Amino acid sequence: MAKRDYYEVLGVSKSASNDEIKKAYRRLAMKHHPDRNKDDTSAGKKFKESKEAYEALSDADKRATYDRFGHEGLQGAAGGAGGGFGAEGFGDVFGDVFGDIFGGGRRGRSQVFRGADLGYELRLDLEQAVDGDAVTIEVPTQVACEECDGKGAAKGSEPVKCTTCGGVGQVRMQQGFFSIQQACPSCKGAGTVISDPCKKCHGRGRVAKTRKLSVKVPAGVDDGDRIRLSGEGEAGRNGGPSGDLYVEIRVNSHKIFAREGADLSCEVPISIATATLGGEVELPTLDGNVSLKIPPGTQSGKVFRLRNKGVVTVRDHRTGDLFARVAVETPVHLTDAQKDLLRQFDDLVSDGGEQHSPRAGGWLDTVKRFFERIS
Ligand SMILES: [Zn+2]
Ligand SMILES: [Zn+2]
Repeated sequence: MAKRDYYEVLGVSKSASNDEIKKAYRRLAMKHHPDRNKDDTSAGKKFKESKEAYEALSDADKRATYDRFGHEGLQGAAGGAGGGFGAEGFGDVFGDVFGDIFGGGRRGRSQVFRGADLGYELRLDLEQAVDGDAVTIEVPTQVACEECDGKGAAKGSEPVKCTTCGGVGQVRMQQGFFSIQQACPSCKGAGTVISDPCKKCHGRGRVAKTRKLSVKVPAGVDDGDRIRLSGEGEAGRNGGPSGDLYVEIRVNSHKIFAREGADLSCEVPISIATATLGGEVELPTLDGNVSLKIPPGTQSGKVFRLRNKGVVTVRDHRTGDLFARVAVETPVHLTDAQKDLLRQFDDLVSDGGEQHSPRAGGWLDTVKRFFERIS
């Protein structure tokens, strides 16, 4: 015998409200209750039929599935007496298959949310990054409400089971052709609702707070490095664990040094006289000044490498070098007397020819060859 339509069984329209369905079922249940129909053998059958119809239509999920797929949709669930409608109806198959695509959440349990991870940008001077430091930071975050222990319910009350989803935290929604699972709109997936919200957190279970934290910055960190502080992110919801805090290192630019991994570089201005005659200049390093020998005839741009005067890296503990690049300074704001002397000097140098100008000589040769080739 073909199964009768559930709406027909209850004698209600397809658009009947939950209330109408409930009333219709009550009336039929009274009418066909076996205790009241001892002589009528069909009464038991009708009683069962209306109960099955009611169980399907009074549940928003099952009703949606039934509307979409009919008895087929709830197949394998209604089966025997007392079996109830399990979660394995036709609709759930779709839910499982397409749940990921549509972003459907986990099912069967109220949702526990891990707190969000937080990011914090920590600005350091190069010296702090190189030597390491202990820094106190202030992080705006969400912490569990102390008043209600993070439950969100006022003292003396408890969250109660959500009636929309029956505590599951998920409801089935019709979206186009598919029936999909979504977080329950009434309880936002928690499975519980709060009737008497905590005054302090207004039922959220968490409150905004600026937390002071001490961050131990290891020696040798570099720009872009991240330090993870486990469990120092936002508090979780519904008893979920806290997130983590990621402290991202940002190193301020330094007046003297530029850093590239383990190596440092800097520019050393020297006078024409020092560059020409040679000499010694004071060179700053991260651990004090050193003396840098400038050989006679040093050209501008020459790079001197000072081994192990770089940074000890945090990861492989490699010690880098310091690269000092010489910049020969052109004198400015000269007096007339100084200019005269320089002109005399230049004349004398010119008399000596190219031997005094190694670069210009090479450069002129190159230019000459260049023009020969293109002419
Ligand atoms: Zn609270
Ligand atoms: Zn709910």
